[in-house]
Amino acid sequence: MKILVVEDQEAIAATLKRKLEAECYAVDVEHDGERGFYKARTNDYDLILLDKGLPGKDGYAICSELRNYKITTPIMILSVAAGTEDKVSLLDCGADDYLAKPYAFSELAARVKALLRRPGQIEAKTLAIDGFSLDRETYSFTFRGTTAPLTPKEFMLLEYLMKNAGKVVSRGMLLGHVWDDGVDQFSKSIDMHIMNLRKKIDPQNKDVFIRTVPGHGFIVG
Ligand code: CA
Repeated sequence: MKILVVEDQEAIAATLKRKLEAECYAVDVEHDGERGFYKARTNDYDLILLDKGLPGKDGYAICSELRNYKITTPIMILSVAAGTEDKVSLLDCGADDYLAKPYAFSELAARVKALLRRPGQIEAKTLAIDGFSLDRETYSFTFRGTTAPLTPKEFMLLEYLMKNAGKVVSRGMLLGHVWDDGVDQFSKSIDMHIMNLRKKIDPQNKDVFIRTVPGHGFIVG
């Protein structure tokens, strides 16, 4: 799952990126409102965290303009000490949630999780398909009674594939949702990670769970 953070205070943005990455999200950061808006409009993020006060374009304007472009990605606005009226107008701009600064990261993380659930869906602690089960709290998987930890990237890859079970997931989709924008788009990184993941989750039968669809990508389930 990939998150865009638009925050002009570089230290806050860097901390947020580091902490979100530790929770197994890919994170892109922008410090300027115009650039953040462009990025949000031209990429398919799973969630956008918007600071309210930004140079170029503020969080409120970014949010309402994205909604005008029919971009429905969940948006959470982070803002210093908003009064009730301010909160109402923030939600009126089409934001899904609002969090006042300073906030505890644990609260932000819990709200991020809630926003990433599909509407009406209760996010289970584990995601299970064909006897493979992925634990979202311990970032590990279990197969045939054996539990093994995954690296953050392996977890993110497997989570994205399992969330899209039954559908072909292209390399472009994986780049868009699992890697941040620092990645070399032409690297063999995706195939290498898939290869390692296959060996790890089922060493005996490694090509069965994550199948390659030649010319298109990968499919699970
Ligand atoms: Ca700010």
